[in-house]
Amino acid sequence: MTRFVGQGRSEVTLAEELVSVEEHLEGILQSLPAAEPIELRLVDALGLVVAEDVVSEVALPAFTNSAMDGYAVVAGDLVDATEHSPTQLPVIGEVAAGALELPVIGSGRVARIMTGAPVPPGADAVVPVEVTSGGATQVAFHRPASPGENIREPGGDLTPGTPLVSAGRRLTPADVALLAATGVTRVRCLPPPRVVVLSSGDELVRPEDQPRTGQIRDSNGPMLSALVRAAGGVPFSTGIVRDDRKALMHAFDSNSGHADLFVCTGGASAGTRDLMPDVLSVLGNARSVKVAMKPGMPQIRGRVGKVPVIGLPGNPVSAFVSFEVFVRPAIRRLQGRRDVARPTVNAVAGAAITAPPHKRGYTRVRLSRDQGRWVATPTGPQGSHLITSIARADGLAVVPEEVTEIPAGEQVQVHLLVD
Ligand code: AMP
Ligand code: MG
Repeated sequence: MTRFVGQGRSEVTLAEELVSVEEHLEGILQSLPAAEPIELRLVDALGLVVAEDVVSEVALPAFTNSAMDGYAVVAGDLVDATEHSPTQLPVIGEVAAGALELPVIGSGRVARIMTGAPVPPGADAVVPVEVTSGGATQVAFHRPASPGENIREPGGDLTPGTPLVSAGRRLTPADVALLAATGVTRVRCLPPPRVVVLSSGDELVRPEDQPRTGQIRDSNGPMLSALVRAAGGVPFSTGIVRDDRKALMHAFDSNSGHADLFVCTGGASAGTRDLMPDVLSVLGNARSVKVAMKPGMPQIRGRVGKVPVIGLPGNPVSAFVSFEVFVRPAIRRLQGRRDVARPTVNAVAGAAITAPPHKRGYTRVRLSRDQGRWVATPTGPQGSHLITSIARADGLAVVPEEVTEIPAGEQVQVHLLVD
């Protein structure tokens, strides 16, 4: 049986054979296992989804302390202080941040105090040094003070029992500060998924090698590893795998132990050397689907043993766009994230944007700003082998299935290539 389709037809692929983008994406997302939480040190958990509710056991601040560098006073002593007739008082000591021994303040005497230092017993206000004479043994106050002024109360930030982070939240640098301040040094979270990238094709050589005529450098492997890392996964590479059943089986087999997801490229469509569907159906199960999109129609989803696998077409632009549409959401879901989609913006088409009938078009566009609106202009020729078309793009203009052209000046939705 020949694996070439389309002979004797006017259209290579019939509209009825196509699966929608949503259906393929749902199929992928549903096949993903739930991630197992691990305990990590705070800084290592940055950006990861927290898997537990953490509640403070302590109060912050833990003790009454000064908000300013100045003098700890009894406010009642300064009621008559003015610019012309300052109140002069003796300084009985100095309290630095971290001080353990505190002088006792009473009426008629003050202590020098630093920001964050415990307020000594007896004092009920701190006067900033800038509004005093600043003396070391005697100090003149030029205005009255209110009780409580420049004093930080215990529990003013949070009290025991206050929630610090809840399950489902992505840990931010400020969360790291909050947890560290309350003595929480480790947190249970969902680890970054390990994604094994497999490039296949007899024509491929390593980027550092000189291709002979007919050969090309493997750009998808490095691109997909970079995309995995940018999406929050940990990329592993199998290196280049030949279009050979045994070589492909070995590559999957020897990498399944450390894979949460396989992403492979090449060999997914209808050429005689497109072995991926067959190999995957032997190792686990796989579905080859024709997705109603351009670029990126031939796709695979399935499993190798327990590991989910996503097979992308080999053309670099198709692989890139399919990663955006299917693999990034999968990696985010494996991270426990609910927001799996990239942000989109509404723009106006800077030039006509076309797409084939029955397929969703993803046109690579540059975005510019004009009179408060985004303008999306195609990056140039859109052939699926043109790597410059992705390298120059800020976003993917989405042309719906039922639309074949968005004329210049009309609205278009753009999937951003940044977060
Ligand atoms: P395939 O999906 O294997 O039929 O490949 C489709 C096209 O993508 C062919 O022109 C391949 O040479 C090209 N291609 C496949 N894999 C890669 C890769 N890893 N890097 C760059 N181009 C590739
Ligand atoms: Mg190939």
